[in-house]
Amino acid sequence: MTVNKKKRYNDYSSYIKSKFNQRIQKISLDTGFTCPNRDGTKGIGGCTYCNNSSFSPHYCSPKKTIKEQLEEGILFFSKKYKTQKYLAYFQSYTNTYSGIETLKKMYSEATDHPNIIGIVIGTRPDCIDNSIISFLSELSKTKYVSLEFGIESTIDRTLKLINRCHTFEDTIHAFKISKNKGIMLGAHLILGLPEENEEDMIEHAKKISLLPINTLKIHQLQILKNTMMAIQYKKESSKFNLLSLEKYIPLVCKFVCYLRPDIIIDRFVAESPKEILIAPQWNGIKNFEIVILINNYLTENNLWQGKYYKKQKF
Ligand code: SF4
Repeated sequence: MTVNKKKRYNDYSSYIKSKFNQRIQKISLDTGFTCPNRDGTKGIGGCTYCNNSSFSPHYCSPKKTIKEQLEEGILFFSKKYKTQKYLAYFQSYTNTYSGIETLKKMYSEATDHPNIIGIVIGTRPDCIDNSIISFLSELSKTKYVSLEFGIESTIDRTLKLINRCHTFEDTIHAFKISKNKGIMLGAHLILGLPEENEEDMIEHAKKISLLPINTLKIHQLQILKNTMMAIQYKKESSKFNLLSLEKYIPLVCKFVCYLRPDIIIDRFVAESPKEILIAPQWNGIKNFEIVILINNYLTENNLWQGKYYKKQKF
């Protein structure tokens, strides 16, 4: 499989290279927080598709301090790559779901580390407020700060179906209070959620292009073991229209055509460990191979990010 060198979309690794002039590695962290749709505040059980072990490396554990997790992560990656600098990635669960003083202490423990050039914080759109934004905005004057919101869908019916316990209006509000504060704003979206068709997913591209998003992670829906969705899938698999790789490539390329051209695409696919993946099975194809397929499809069909994008106001 050969890669088509000329990229037809705004890719994250080029952005990072041009920003920092070197390879940067993210170190995932687990703070031991939970989520409002898990602890009963808004709901229980969490999102129906969520299995946190799908994105927790071995060195991540809330039993260890942030510093310990960072040291272990750095040790692991420094053997693998000649990377010198790292981003602390607050990845598991909702990493703004605590009091401001706890959050300040936690983020500062990461940014105080000499090899950490910045932080990336994964959270939900309904777990952000002005006090957190104001702290992160101040921090962004000296460190790279990225805040990633799980949007997942722009359709409230879907959000309800997957037990997100927030609305798309919450997403719009989160971006409104976070924009123009020196913070890089990220978004996460899943393609292929139950009861969504291709038209719905193209609408996602149009709607999120109206938000002040800097970076975007997209991936296909995966059914993972030990999730509510796995039980639903076992009972009524006909209700799921899981995307095959052959369907996903043209769909995601079309999605990219409707996306605002300046949005940096950080990810196109999820690659959960095979031990926990139920469906769809894409025969073990690796992420980088899928990215090559996407690049080649865009080139062969003369498509590019923003080809069909129409400018509208936020
Ligand atoms: S997907 Fe995110 S918000 Fe949903 S339950 Fe999992 S960690 Fe919480």
